[in-house]
Amino acid sequence: MSESPHENANEMEMDFNSKTNLTEPKQEGRRWTSREKCLGFVLFFCAVAVVLLVLILVLGVYGLVHIFPSSLTSQTTLPPRAASLYCMTQECIKSADAILSNINVSVDPCEDFFRFSCDGWLKKNPIPDSQSSWNNFNLFDKKIKSKNKEILQKPSERNSSESFERKVKLLYLSCMDTNAIDRVGAKPLLEAISKAGGWKTIGTWDQSNWSLRDSVTTLLYDYFVQSFVGISMKADDKSPDVNIIMINQKRLGMRDREYYFENETESKFIKGYKTYMTTLAELLGATKENATDFANEVFDFERELANISFPSDAPENLDPSLRYNKITVEDLHSLLPQINWTQILATIDVEVDRRTAVIVFNKEYMTKLSALIDRTDSSILSQYLVWALVQKHAVTLSKEFEKARDEFRRTFYGAGPKERWEKCVTYVGNMMGDGLSSLYIRKHFSKESKEEIIDMIKDILQVYEERIDQLTFMDDPTKKNAKAKLEAIQYKKIGFPDFMLNDTHMDLRYRQYEIKCSDCHFQNKIDAFRGARAYQQEEFKKPVDKEKWFLKPIDVNAYYSSKHNEMVFLAGILQPPFYAPYFTRAMKYASIGMIVGHEITHAFDKRGSQYDKDGKLQNWWTNESRKAYEEATECFSTYFSKYEVSGFQVNGELTVTENTADTVGLRVGYAAYKTWVSRNGPEKMLPGVNRTPEELFFIANSALWCGHTRLERLKLSILSSVHAPLAVRGQGPASQTQGFAETYKCGLGSPMTPAKICKIF
Ligand SMILES: [Zn+2]
Repeated sequence: MSESPHENANEMEMDFNSKTNLTEPKQEGRRWTSREKCLGFVLFFCAVAVVLLVLILVLGVYGLVHIFPSSLTSQTTLPPRAASLYCMTQECIKSADAILSNINVSVDPCEDFFRFSCDGWLKKNPIPDSQSSWNNFNLFDKKIKSKNKEILQKPSERNSSESFERKVKLLYLSCMDTNAIDRVGAKPLLEAISKAGGWKTIGTWDQSNWSLRDSVTTLLYDYFVQSFVGISMKADDKSPDVNIIMINQKRLGMRDREYYFENETESKFIKGYKTYMTTLAELLGATKENATDFANEVFDFERELANISFPSDAPENLDPSLRYNKITVEDLHSLLPQINWTQILATIDVEVDRRTAVIVFNKEYMTKLSALIDRTDSSILSQYLVWALVQKHAVTLSKEFEKARDEFRRTFYGAGPKERWEKCVTYVGNMMGDGLSSLYIRKHFSKESKEEIIDMIKDILQVYEERIDQLTFMDDPTKKNAKAKLEAIQYKKIGFPDFMLNDTHMDLRYRQYEIKCSDCHFQNKIDAFRGARAYQQEEFKKPVDKEKWFLKPIDVNAYYSSKHNEMVFLAGILQPPFYAPYFTRAMKYASIGMIVGHEITHAFDKRGSQYDKDGKLQNWWTNESRKAYEEATECFSTYFSKYEVSGFQVNGELTVTENTADTVGLRVGYAAYKTWVSRNGPEKMLPGVNRTPEELFFIANSALWCGHTRLERLKLSILSSVHAPLAVRGQGPASQTQGFAETYKCGLGSPMTPAKICKIF
């Protein structure tokens, strides 16, 4: 359901968070008005007063009130003994406030650590109607979008025809001009349907003049619609400096194949999907009867496609060596001759010919697809292709189409409509993400935290190295290679790339984007896709660009790239609750320290461990070590499969790389914190919290995952996401960490201290 010109952009990267999210900006560099300053002081003193009040109450409850004289209520200083135990700086008070307002002391942390750490957050932050999930990531996403809205509404400061700023803003304005959009109605899409060969449902299809090959090619060439297969450009797994075309199965209309096998008369998802198709067909001029036939025919064909598609947890999806099938375009023609491969692959490689090498994820899918196309009536195939076109572009049309989409979203994700501005900011972020980020970071980000993050990365790498030394399942030759890989991990991309501050560079980046008017939404969208294609074609012939960032800096995310052997921390995740300069050390290591550990682990997880230090898909393990490693990984799969959230069972196999990364990230984050303590002495307690810094470490980590997810969204996530649900991320990794057991002393066999700990790093 993405409108991004790079539909599979993140597929080969292991990102920290499932969704691409945006974050709250820093305030540095922005001028405060006197009114804001005044309000700020009032709020700050209110906060201090509230914290002190809570402090007195809590300490009272724990019988510790003797530390503070009763006259403290009107003071902000403490007697010497208290001062030596508690940290009373503004930073600590702020940190204490954040923790106190999240936890629920009436929940037993040994039973449900997620609820213990998050109940307060969940009460404080009810899920808005328009959201299918609501957590720290979404919350910052929304905030950053509001700020982006302000930026996009302001007239462009640079107005030449080359100005990327002007193009980004025109893209937004045209999306917001609903009057102009309503005036043209369905016309742009009807023209596209006609150009792609006509449509049986509205009586414009002429079978004798229709060709599957031409229709598939026109859809891709003129309307950027992929059908039957997904095509993308990536670095070659075995020659990571060279780009190569990759061909995968096409994502289905209902996102995951499992929806297609539900009981048709009972499934609200199937009913909702068919209603969506019928409504759009009627809006495009079909009679009710024809529209219903259209929906049924397309659905039945898509179910056949679902049948031959491999599931999310299939080995082809999870194991890079299994999907590395390098063949030529000539071979492709033999596998699936119904498509003109040379023509459609030229959308990526302009010089493609029959000898060009490509990677096919699953050859069996191609063979089965060919057989399916052969046995399907051409009228059905044409219906399917029109639906692919309508599904991609109907959202760009008038308000009736938008409403139909909103209703489908309600059924599928359980959430109500988002406001128009929010949809348009998201759209601009998808189409011109670097451009929007560039405008945003100039206003709202600074680079001041970078040094501290680098120090923490070094700490965590050190812990990792020691852990590799101690591993019992890895023999010496493998350890040597593992350490070489660890040492080669790059981490210079922190925050945002400098080129985003350079107008000339940014103008060049978008020079092929012909965005010209503020009242031509459909045309602008096509032109933005055309620009993205031209940019991609240019990139394809060059050596793989090592300076490229795979996600936008304004995303609340981090990622590890196996092919670059590199971890990247986006500016969006260097914000509270993930990081703030005022956090205590325990909080810093529990959040950003764990995230660093998480990303390093991707270099050694089930998938990443198949790539060597130079990013090549190449074995560096001895057989014995690999076997022992596979068994250790299996333990994680089995352990996390036991979790059930709102009746949905976690798929341990699908989520194994992320669960391993979360767990090992937490373990090394904790070890690095303990090393810091041994070097610097114990941290002081936070006022009013009455928890040791070690306890706080685990609370702060779990609190990262506080959040609600609607059941509909949860279902999709369970089926297709490599990340486990929030409640599992908020307690599963802690339950697998020795330091948690030592800190909380839960009884062995309790939910948070299972008898079996999976041994790996
Ligand atoms: Zn990850």
